Amino acid sequence: MYCRQLVVLVGGRGTRLGKLAENCPKPLMKITEQKVFLDYFLESAVRQGFRDVLLLAGHLGEQVQSRYDHASIGGAHISVVIEPEPRGTGGAFAFVRDRLASTFIAANGDTLFDTNIRAVDAALHGSPDTLGVLALRKVENAGRFGSVNVDGDGRILSFQEKTAESEGQPGLINGGIYALRLEAIDRLKHFPSSIEADLFPQLASEGRLRGVESSGYFLDIGLPETYSRAVTELPARKRPVLFLDRDGVLNHDHGYVHAQDRWEWVPGAIRTIKAANDAGYAVVVVTNQAGIARGYYDECDVWKLHHAVQKELYRHGAFVDAFYYSPYHKDAVHEPYRVQAALDRKPGGAMIQRAFRQMNLSREGAFLLGDQESDVDAATSAGISGYRFPGGDLYEWFATLPHSQPIVSESRI
Ligand SMILES: [Mg+2]
Repeated sequence: MYCRQLVVLVGGRGTRLGKLAENCPKPLMKITEQKVFLDYFLESAVRQGFRDVLLLAGHLGEQVQSRYDHASIGGAHISVVIEPEPRGTGGAFAFVRDRLASTFIAANGDTLFDTNIRAVDAALHGSPDTLGVLALRKVENAGRFGSVNVDGDGRILSFQEKTAESEGQPGLINGGIYALRLEAIDRLKHFPSSIEADLFPQLASEGRLRGVESSGYFLDIGLPETYSRAVTELPARKRPVLFLDRDGVLNHDHGYVHAQDRWEWVPGAIRTIKAANDAGYAVVVVTNQAGIARGYYDECDVWKLHHAVQKELYRHGAFVDAFYYSPYHKDAVHEPYRVQAALDRKPGGAMIQRAFRQMNLSREGAFLLGDQESDVDAATSAGISGYRFPGGDLYEWFATLPHSQPIVSESRI
């Protein structure tokens, strides 16, 4: 199982921001002419496959409603619920209790923590007794936030309030993203209540709360100086990217694989994808699918297979950002699949270039793993590095490549 639902708290008042947040909820503070702070968080989250997004609004909630209600972002459907009176973060979840799935991801809309949410999700589903899993961020100065104490096994032991002594000390903080079971929300009986101050310490004392650490990009907009950082940094951020050929790299190439029962993972493939996810890389699959042109299967079969592959990855705390496939071939049985063959297929770089145009990706450090010379040629023609996988365990080979080092060092944390 895995979480399909993402619930974001967007009712926060920006009291410490003074006039800056006077006329809008904090997550709706403007970053560029077109975009507000929450847009950046939603983009980093919906790429991980959440299709049902619920925004819990309160203070000036009609602004959230007019911007987002029944909108669609990256394939996710967005709904907005406005809480009539503030009853704390616990009260907000209790108010929408009947709209919540049995397990869901909850997030704080006034922080942006760019982390592998699927890893947090998989940690909850892998531990039936656990009622909540927190995404934890390692910081140099935990004093501003209050820190989280975790045992070697990922179990959260306790929370430490912000104190003068912890000022300037490194530590783990609550990153504001959680995987929760509905049962945890049902623990809340008295309102107003706070999930951070009331619920989490109680679950930790019972040994039913866990944490997953990462060092992904983290920013909250609680203070005027962090808001100005957001305005400078967010529009400039581009995601590093790992391109992967499919057949012969992710799955054994049995020839024209187009159904789940013929999909057999290459050893180490899921681990490679998860390591890239953990390090904040986009994972983009680029695959020639001449079987479509030849009439062996159709595009719908390819979508269905990729959907099934994603679901399996979610269960392992991993995900693919996008699948690009080329259905063309010069010997196509249908004319429309013949015309683009020379332009679109690898060894051309068209699919890679298309991903760069459509997604917000950085060319710096971008690389591709393939099993054929034509994959390496496609990478070269798109101006990025390409490596040819000799077979065996994909991760063991991947970990030796120069371009993989930023990913490998992150996954050892
Ligand atoms: Mg291949």
